[in-house]
Amino acid sequence: MKRFLYNVSAVSLSKIGSPLRPSTARRYSQQKLERPTFGIAFDIDGVILRGHTPIGGSPQALKRLYFEDGTLKIPFLFLTNGGGIPESKRASELSKLLGVHVSALQVVQGHSPFRELVNRFKNELIIAVGKGEPAAVMSDYGFKKVLSIDEYASNFSDIDPLSQYKIWGPKHRLDTNSKPTELHPEYDVLKDRVRGAFVVSDSVDWGRDIQVLCDILHSGGLPGKENGDQPPLYFASDDLEYQAAFPSERLGMGAFRIALECVFNRVHGNPLKYTSFGKPNPSVFKNAEAIMNQLQSSISCNSRIMNGGITKQYPLKTIYMIGDNPSVDINGARKAGHPWFSILTRTGVFRGKENHAQFPADLVVDTVEDGIDYILQKECP
Ligand SMILES: [Mg+2]
Repeated sequence: MKRFLYNVSAVSLSKIGSPLRPSTARRYSQQKLERPTFGIAFDIDGVILRGHTPIGGSPQALKRLYFEDGTLKIPFLFLTNGGGIPESKRASELSKLLGVHVSALQVVQGHSPFRELVNRFKNELIIAVGKGEPAAVMSDYGFKKVLSIDEYASNFSDIDPLSQYKIWGPKHRLDTNSKPTELHPEYDVLKDRVRGAFVVSDSVDWGRDIQVLCDILHSGGLPGKENGDQPPLYFASDDLEYQAAFPSERLGMGAFRIALECVFNRVHGNPLKYTSFGKPNPSVFKNAEAIMNQLQSSISCNSRIMNGGITKQYPLKTIYMIGDNPSVDINGARKAGHPWFSILTRTGVFRGKENHAQFPADLVVDTVEDGIDYILQKECP
């Protein structure tokens, strides 16, 4: 693929135009009955939001992907390694923050692939780790016997020798949306082995979680008992760092994984076995492509109803990945290959003037709004 540094901040406005010119916008709205042949995947942290604040002109940029009546015009989704709450809840939050209607189908989080593991663990005791509502996320996917690590650890007195020094108590950290008696009516953590551990979102208490996970994993699922075979361990992502509200990057789930792995390997001598999901894993991009095709079909279906005719089937010719993290977003889109086209913004992890040296994007722009300008001008000249 032709690879070029298209520095929008320097050369864009004469070539690309910004914002969308009225003539282009008019032509675009006339295409309502046609099926779009491109889609867009947005990273969230450092592209759309910083913390809970929209950045890079994201609200007005996203509005261009909808018709005036608020229905979806261009298939797009959010492809984030973040998470900790069910996709439906995240969609509601994004809708409020960005002022557009986001459906649950348009939210792909780091832990979304966990739902593919339901059949393997459906009735087995599993542990969900992380901020937010990790157990609610897993039960939403169909796992029947799930405990958050907070709930699980609270059944073992003295499992965390430092708990008395912590200013927050287990009650304050309980997964408020999980209802133990409803989710798992029959379990005894002192007898039931943990059959799988899922790191759903960023660990809140690294020290306690590393300790309890080492206990679970080394004992074969029964802390304080004899050693046993390590249960499977899954991470929703492997980001070393990510851009949050603080000016410099924060340690992500990849950093927690490294810490757990180093401690486990030193203490127990056996290498930790685990599986990580999330970008840049190519399977995440394949899944996003499938969802994008579903969204395209629904847009086409709406058009068919309005048109009263038959809409042709077109494969998506291009899917744009707009991200701020070269090693995650850009690397992943490059590995995924056709039809992915990568766009790197300067609003998050990446702040360079030129392209990234190791994982160069197909296009570098200042903000997500610049990226959407480029896409709409290219696709609808
Ligand atoms: Mg990001």
